[in-house]
Amino acid sequence: MALIQKCRMQSNDNLYAVLASRFPVNDSPAFIDAGAEVSYAMLDRLVAQYAGALKALGVGVGDRVTAQIEKSVAGVALYLAALRIGAVFNPLNTAYTAAELTYFLSDAKPSVLVVEPDKAHAIQQAASDHSVLSVETLDAHGGGSMAERASAATPFDGIEQRGQSDLAAILYTSGTTGKSKGAMLTHGNLASNMVALHQAWAFQPGDVLLHALPIYHVHGLFVALGTALYNRSAIIWLPKFDAAQVIGLLPKATVMMGVPTFYTRLLEQPAFDAALVKHMRLFVAGSAPLLAETHARFFERTGHHILERYGMTETGMITSNPYDGARLAGTVGYPLPDVHVRIADAEGQECAVGEPGVIEVKGPNVFTGYWRMPEKTREEFRADGYFITGDIGVREPDGRISIVGRAKDLIITGGFNVYPKEIETEIDAMPGVIESAVVGVPHSDFGEGVIAVVAAKDGAPAEAEIIDALKGKLARFKLPKRVLFVADLPRNAMGKVQKAELRTQYAKLLA
Ligand code: AMP
Repeated sequence: MALIQKCRMQSNDNLYAVLASRFPVNDSPAFIDAGAEVSYAMLDRLVAQYAGALKALGVGVGDRVTAQIEKSVAGVALYLAALRIGAVFNPLNTAYTAAELTYFLSDAKPSVLVVEPDKAHAIQQAASDHSVLSVETLDAHGGGSMAERASAATPFDGIEQRGQSDLAAILYTSGTTGKSKGAMLTHGNLASNMVALHQAWAFQPGDVLLHALPIYHVHGLFVALGTALYNRSAIIWLPKFDAAQVIGLLPKATVMMGVPTFYTRLLEQPAFDAALVKHMRLFVAGSAPLLAETHARFFERTGHHILERYGMTETGMITSNPYDGARLAGTVGYPLPDVHVRIADAEGQECAVGEPGVIEVKGPNVFTGYWRMPEKTREEFRADGYFITGDIGVREPDGRISIVGRAKDLIITGGFNVYPKEIETEIDAMPGVIESAVVGVPHSDFGEGVIAVVAAKDGAPAEAEIIDALKGKLARFKLPKRVLFVADLPRNAMGKVQKAELRTQYAKLLA
């Protein structure tokens, strides 16, 4: 008994301790095709150097390290070093402007800010105003003042003791309204989700991950990088997604994770075929809905069923289609082990099977709240601990979850609720249509009116034909009042359609 207690006391829940305990000590590769190959042993040394440098700059346990940098192996070392010394890593989307960065500094109050060399000068004053101890630089090739400090530093070989509920990272949500909120993620959140996905997707020795996602987001940083490091996998490390480059490197990979746009772009390439991917074990999609048509075309072309999963910054991954078993287009599968999902009405009461409601989640993966926003945190959690995701879903009779849309995208027209996905699915199935986005815009009579924005090829039906075709299928109040044609729907870097942008653009159409 005494021995068991002693062991518990000694265990370290620091995510870096969980990862490093599995790193091979020989020269097995961690990153390949990243300029130079980096082995796991080299990665651990690099992390110790960066950890030593951060400590020398005065970063202590619980302090924030904010980074707005291009993707690089050095950037991964910086992230892992922050974990190693018990600091809180705060990666930022590289697209944020200096004004936005200033807001994040005022909110996160980091000890150290790491930026691209050409951004350092412009942010210096704001950094001083917010008591940042030091502004450092790191470029896409692993050069810059932070890299110089790391190579000169006394390495820190220890791993700070952290518990499950201690903070590991703050990720700002890409909120389209109001101020971005910092989701506080703990070592326990990240480790539990990583282990659950590693198991759910049957990671195995010899797996090689093709990584073309950004690493300022949950998908690239925790889901893709986390599971691969935990598996001691070699990672084909690409600065960004480039279809031709991916096609050249896929023969070396066994697993690929991507946003749906990656897969539609691969399908545009004639060289992307069954022979090229015959050795692949798994393609995973998420961060935005995968069109049923893409799922079907991908299977026809390659013989692979893309595995779609669902999650968000605040919760990590929530559900996944099965690894063994049918991966159905249009559903995001079953809740991961230990993750509880409730489809709820406005009062938090469970909806009947097949009835749409807000997806609520509870489990070891769910974040502890929004940084410095206790009010906002209280609003988004139920008294019994469930987090209100804001996504609308349906539980299918077999327990699978399907996403119907975002609560904020729900259209209320003349008092009737309209779920855009229902209309989008019908329009997407029409010949010549690439994809569609249905939104509500101000309407003089009905409050909101339904419109459809359609990306189409030559030969697609005209506006009146689309509306006519929908007439037989949908209730009258759901019919779009207008159909607008565009070359492409507006998307962000994670492949999400920017509906807020469409609502602004067409705000006067029916008013
Ligand atoms: P983020 O916090 O940037 O990861 O965005 C999370 C949001 O992306 C979720 O709340 C969903 O609205 C959306 N999302 C993620 N995965 C899927 C999916 N497989 N299907 C539909 N929407 C998804």
